[in-house]
Amino acid sequence: MVDHTDLKHLRRALELAREALEAGDAPFGSVLVASDGTVLAEDRNRTGGGDRTRHPEFALARWAAENMKPADRPGATVYTSGEHCPMCAAAHGFVGLGRIVYAGSSGQLVAWRADFGAAPSPVRALPIREVVPGLTVEGPVPELADELREMHRRYSAELAARG
Ligand SMILES: [Zn+2]
Repeated sequence: MVDHTDLKHLRRALELAREALEAGDAPFGSVLVASDGTVLAEDRNRTGGGDRTRHPEFALARWAAENMKPADRPGATVYTSGEHCPMCAAAHGFVGLGRIVYAGSSGQLVAWRADFGAAPSPVRALPIREVVPGLTVEGPVPELADELREMHRRYSAELAARG
């Protein structure tokens, strides 16, 4: 279940997504939280420079690999504005991190992008559980959907305007 504390971290992930959007990157943000509730690291999408692997969930998995003991990783939670893509889900699984809580699902994003007339992603939107079996995954969170959809609408419009 998504509780008050989860919502607080998800709202921070959405703030980071908005920062990314304002900087010309795709609107995604993520927060890594230890089992005792400490925020360990956070990041946002940085794909605007042309490297389309610069996803925040991937960055946090690598942060965990470099900075966390293997024994501490399963107790940590990654909060993220959008469900992990297969690349990031795989990185999360390889590093051995724990629960994922996302605000919007990959399925929602695919549907929204189709509504906006955006080009489809070159990578299939698989649910996290298909990439990392056995992981605790929670989302989507309906009360954050409108804000998230609006950020993605704006990003699609800006991409189209850039050509
Ligand atoms: Zn990703």
